[in-house]
Amino acid sequence: MKPITTFLHMRSGRSGLLLSGRVALLAGLTVIPLLSAGPAAQRLPIFDAHIHYSRDAWERFPPAGALKILRRGGVIRAFVSSTPDDGTLRLYRAAPKFIVPVLRPYRTREDMSGWFRDPEVPAYLEERIRTGRGVYRGIGEFHMGVGDAASPVFRRIADLAARENLFLHAHVDAAAVAEIAAVKRGVCVLWAHAGMTAAAETIGRLLDRHANLWAELALRWDVSHDGLKPDWRKLFLRHPDRFLVGTDTWADDRWEFLPRTLDGYRAWLKDLPRAVAEKIAYRNAERLAKPGACARPQAAGQACKRPG
Ligand SMILES: [Zn+2]
Repeated sequence: MKPITTFLHMRSGRSGLLLSGRVALLAGLTVIPLLSAGPAAQRLPIFDAHIHYSRDAWERFPPAGALKILRRGGVIRAFVSSTPDDGTLRLYRAAPKFIVPVLRPYRTREDMSGWFRDPEVPAYLEERIRTGRGVYRGIGEFHMGVGDAASPVFRRIADLAARENLFLHAHVDAAAVAEIAAVKRGVCVLWAHAGMTAAAETIGRLLDRHANLWAELALRWDVSHDGLKPDWRKLFLRHPDRFLVGTDTWADDRWEFLPRTLDGYRAWLKDLPRAVAEKIAYRNAERLAKPGACARPQAAGQACKRPG
């Protein structure tokens, strides 16, 4: 029989320390601490970059219940926004170290289509930021289209984001995200769903061009098919510092599936080098959660590794 140390070396890869009970018995050695750690303890922690705690979820999942689901999914922290914003603050008050509030420009769902033309929205955001006393780390998630970033209302909001060191969480297509990222080079833009349908090549080109652009992968099931797809793998290795993962609890039944959704990410993250997987799973989000992550876009640009 091989000495147990050799065996552990053999198994020290990603699946590391998955000793079966039978092998442990055969080895006749004390491996109980490893076994008792269990698969949950070896799970890749996740900073969920796309959680909503909007009104329709409040009754079914009160704060304690919502937090329990997040923790069951192996979430260590989360960016949370909601319509109305009170949901975010309720969850934040229940776990201030765990929840990182992001402020939506939507007072009601009706604000969704024209908020960037409504001159009352910047004042609403300023007031929430003032009374929130520094709890917010970003503005969003918001929706807009090509050309909307030129509106004076959006410019005021971008100025506010720069002044308050907040990132912008934008659910937009590739053309619109390029416009938003160009408005203020010192403001981080977190691209929701990486554009939902944008190809890996398009995303890569935008990340090359805009050092203040980051992307989260909520609902991007197209990243993998029987393992991580080669074009995405190439993209993650080229920009390991610019991707995040998230669930997007846009409807209340998404909460139920949250742990399974996150295991879906872990399934393809394991195809990446561990250091890169950890960055995408939580380390990049931890950096973005700190004020001023894009204050010096040049520094962010160094993260971009061009091939060759
Ligand atoms: Zn969303």
